[in-house]
Amino acid sequence: MKAVQYRSVGAAPEVVTVARPEPGPGQVLLKVTAAGVCHSDIAVMSWPAEAIPFPLPLTLGHEGAGTVAALGEGVTGLSVGDSVAVYGPWGCGSCLMCAQGKENYCLRAAELGIRPPGLGAPGALAEYLLVDDPRHLVPLGDLDPVTAVPLTDAGLTPYHAIKTALPKLTPGSTAVVIGTGGLGHVAIQLLRALTPARVVALDVTDEKLELARQVGAHETVRSDAQAAAKVRELTGGTGAQAVFDFVGAPPTVTTATACAAVEAEISIVGIGGGAASVGFGTVPYDAAVRSPYWGSRSELIEVLDLARSGAIDVHVETYTLDEAPEVYARLHDGRINGRAVILPHA
Ligand code: NAD
Ligand code: ZN
Ligand code: ZN
Repeated sequence: MKAVQYRSVGAAPEVVTVARPEPGPGQVLLKVTAAGVCHSDIAVMSWPAEAIPFPLPLTLGHEGAGTVAALGEGVTGLSVGDSVAVYGPWGCGSCLMCAQGKENYCLRAAELGIRPPGLGAPGALAEYLLVDDPRHLVPLGDLDPVTAVPLTDAGLTPYHAIKTALPKLTPGSTAVVIGTGGLGHVAIQLLRALTPARVVALDVTDEKLELARQVGAHETVRSDAQAAAKVRELTGGTGAQAVFDFVGAPPTVTTATACAAVEAEISIVGIGGGAASVGFGTVPYDAAVRSPYWGSRSELIEVLDLARSGAIDVHVETYTLDEAPEVYARLHDGRINGRAVILPHA
């Protein structure tokens, strides 16, 4: 089968032919219907060899959806042909965090060598994807896999961050979204669906800010050195009660803390190498700074239910597997609007 692999450190991903996997006992084989392309892969592919915690080559793609193609021995509760989404942050399934559905914070995954598909285990940018356990699958039902697949990360990750901040997002409050790409443009819609907050979106190009307005941002601000002052102006000097930074680079983290209100929730979701300095006087009084990772199994079910209610319209650009290397180049250069989704059987 065809797969898109990161094969050697620093090289561009390649389309290659690999053996189609067979499901072993307890596993499920999916025929991939759609796979989203996340900016985290760009970060992984920029790491030096010693920072990569898994062997290469790696089949990329950690947002996956498919139809059940074959069931391993002992798997029940699924039928061949079922349309499903993959919960990506696989854990051990039995530690205290996993027992609460928070496999993204599994206490034993690293020690046991359990890695998400596309981030250690073979990923979804392939014709078929092997899933280690049926608990990682959520039925899609009538949801279109093409627009639903980004919800497994570009939806789930902001959903988790926003849920933590919900108590702060009361009427009259302001939420700031920095970076309105794959995650950010879904975050804006989640904020509109879940909260009465005024949403202020920051990005660097007109095209991205236009998408932000289209999906529900009340205000857009160019992300530059004056951005925090503009947010303060828009909030009568108070600042934002919640700030979600989907870039996480040094200048955006500076903006994130500088535009926050007292008691704000500041969530640094992007992995752009920025760091907030937290101490008395460096952030507003009682502000909380978090660095969340992905989301829980139950939150994925909630996000998909929210999509089913019609509250989320993921903006997708679709491509074939052969186009995936070009998609990564476009994503790197900021030339994808919304989420790029690969259709391996198109
Ligand atoms: P994306 O490329 O689709 O979107 C990033 C957006 O940020 C683009 O619209 C880009 O124009 C904008 N941007 C770039 N520089 C900016 C700046 N200085 N100010 C404002 N906007 C700027 O990326 P994505 O797939 O949405 O991922 C966003 C970030 O989140 C990445 O760093 C990714 O690695 C990270 N991520 C983290 C988690 C997690 O669990 N913590 C999960 C998924 C993705
Ligand atoms: Zn991701
Ligand atoms: Zn666990």
